Order: sequence, then C-alpha cells, then structure tokens
Amino acid sequence: MGKGISIALDGPAGSGKSTIARAVALKFGYQYIDTGAMYRAITLKALKNKIPVDDESRLTELVANTTINFKYIGTGDQPQLRVIMDGVDVSEAIRSLEVTDNVSAVSAVAGVREALVKLQRSMAEEGGVVMDGRDIGTVVLPNAELKIFLTASVAERSKRRWLELKAKGVEVPLEELEQQIRKRDQFDSNRAVDPLRQAEDAILLDTTDLSISEVTDRIVELALAKGAEFKPT
Ligand code: C5P
Repeated sequence: MGKGISIALDGPAGSGKSTIARAVALKFGYQYIDTGAMYRAITLKALKNKIPVDDESRLTELVANTTINFKYIGTGDQPQLRVIMDGVDVSEAIRSLEVTDNVSAVSAVAGVREALVKLQRSMAEEGGVVMDGRDIGTVVLPNAELKIFLTASVAERSKRRWLELKAKGVEVPLEELEQQIRKRDQFDSNRAVDPLRQAEDAILLDTTDLSISEVTDRIVELALAKGAEFKPT
C-alpha cells in the first residue's frame, strides 16, 4: 500500500467540511487536518493575551511562539481529534462564540497565514491526508490529487450550526448564527490574503439537500478514482 493521496476540502463555514473530512479520512486510514482549528487556536491565544485582532506584528510574533498539533484519542470508528496548543488541550475552548467572532480577523493577517500554511504543508508532506479549510486547494496544497469545494445555502448552514450547538447544550437564536455566518463568509471571501475561493480544478458539491453519508460516499468514490485505497480491515 502506498502512502496515500492528498485530499483538499474547502468551503464556507457550516458547509459540512469537518464532519465529512473526518469520515473520509477514516475510510482510508488517512490523517485529518482541521486547519480552521489552527486559526482558532491562535485566536484564542490572542484573546487570552489581550492582543488586538488587527495588531499584525504582535499576532505574527505570537504565532511564531506557539506550537499546535493534533492528537487522536481512542481508536476504532470514532477516534476523537484533539487540538493541542503549547501542550494544552484547547479542543473545546477554540469553539467558543468569542473565538468564532474573532477568528476571521486574525486569519486575515498575512504573518499568521504564512506561518500556519507552512505548518500545514509540513503536516501533509507524507501524503495520506484529508485537509479542510478555505485555501487548501488554492494555496496550501495546490498539487493535491483531489480537490473538493463544498457549499450549502446560508439557511441550511445556519441550521446545521444551530443543531450542533444545541446538541452541546448551547442555545443561540438561529438569526444570530445566520448573521455570524454571513459576516464570516463576507470576511473570508474578501480578505486580501488567500481568500476563500474555489480552485479551478476543484469539484463543486452543493450539500444543501444531501446527507453526510451521501456526500462522504461521493468523495470516497472520487478519491478511489484518484488512487486512494481503503484502509485494510
Ligand atoms: O473551519 P472553521 O469554521 O473552524 O474556520 C474558522 C475560521 O478560520 C474561518 O472562518 C476562516 O476565517 C479561518 N480559516 C482560514 N483558512 C483556513 C481555515 C480557516 O482563514 N484554511
């Protein structure tokens, strides 16, 4: 068995990227790399250190002095991906509304992107990865064997976020989430550095009316056609 292909999965907030990327990675025994989690971790640290989210030089310095890595807990069908920053598990903390509200500003800083893109490339060096984000197919892994761009309507994406938060016991009005998603889309698509954009050679999948398993199956099919091999059981 070879090392495996690289799969780039991009799309706006709530398009289902992380759930689907995780499921696809599991099928092939690949590593799942959640690049959004890395931007969120830096945002969390910036907020903790009271660094303004538009202070480019301090944020660039901060990212240079931060370590981020991923760790899996448990095995089998549901291994849990944990995000470790400076040795501390921040998996829950990076999902707070405060981090979500500020992450687009932090991730628009060129120095932050430069450092994280470099780290992401090194994580994918060996192949056998599913990486999700906004600029994976265009910037991080332009040579990925398979590039997917996931979309879904704003209403559907907001509903998914609402359900996700509700399952965690967090009640946020749907309209608030819809507003937040629109704001983030706007910011991520219009920033000067590496904006959210579909790569020319990416396959567009609209997930509005598709279930997670339908989207996963479609991507698995495409990956098999590109030479990916199922994880031996
Ligand atoms: O994927 P997630 O919604 O967790 O990403 C959080 C934020 O991180 C995005 O809204 C975007 O601003 C930023 N991001 C990015 N580039 C990536 C991944 C995420 O700018 N590759």
